[in-house]
Amino acid sequence: MKKGKKLYEGKAKIIYATNDKNLVIQYFKDDATAFNNQKKSTIEGKGVLNNRISEHILSNLSQIGIKNHLVTRLNMREQVIKLVEIIPIEFIVRNIATGSITKRLGIEDGTVLKEPLIEYCLKDDKLGDPLIAEEHILAFDWASKKEIEKVKKMILRINDFMIGMFRGVGIKLIDFKLEFGRLKVNGKDEVILADEISPDTCRLWDSITDKKLDKDRFRKNLGDLIPAYTEVAKRLGILHEQSNVSAVNVTKLSSVKRK
Ligand code: 5GP
Repeated sequence: MKKGKKLYEGKAKIIYATNDKNLVIQYFKDDATAFNNQKKSTIEGKGVLNNRISEHILSNLSQIGIKNHLVTRLNMREQVIKLVEIIPIEFIVRNIATGSITKRLGIEDGTVLKEPLIEYCLKDDKLGDPLIAEEHILAFDWASKKEIEKVKKMILRINDFMIGMFRGVGIKLIDFKLEFGRLKVNGKDEVILADEISPDTCRLWDSITDKKLDKDRFRKNLGDLIPAYTEVAKRLGILHEQSNVSAVNVTKLSSVKRK
């Protein structure tokens, strides 16, 4: 497969064309941003860990029938993915209230929700990804009713699976963000899971200590982001137990072969 020109550069990833018009290469950068780009940094090794963790989660989801854009991981920072038309909505899934919802609604941090809550945000950095209602999605034709219903079913299945997967390794899945895209299959539009699922897009707390193992370490200046992401990767069985927790070692992950 030949890597072509850069098609798009986002905050944490770059998309390149390939010689197959249906496939693109997704490159994971080390850049970290928060608060709508107001806080920025580069954290050496983050892209490598997110590439591995997202590959692991998306391949597992594929095995339980959740269609997604991942084709294969190419190397330490790149994946081949299916080119989709991204639905311009961030689907936020919450199991425990923390982050923006606690401030917005005055809910106590750590409140366990009776049922998973799905929120919709318009994917628009200039507007700060505002919270929207399902009615807005329909009114402005960002997705059809049928697509939303299909996505909601997929989200609940993904959430169930991920809660179990993380619980098995001593991690609580607090909340996460998903994106979906449209793909033409035999002339018909199909909605599949897209983007990444990683500690950049999930809140993950240690089951016993509630230690944050996700991007909140960057957002809240808690430090030790790479050791936290490495811990997640190790617990998921992606990294060898003996791997030392350091950015330098993370850059050596390229030598760890795919399972
Ligand atoms: P909150 O709305 O509390 O800030 O975020 C809820 C969840 O969605 C968190 O797990 C957070 O990481 C994820 N999330 C929301 N918006 C974004 C975003 O623009 N980028 C990333 N990487 N994650 C997001």
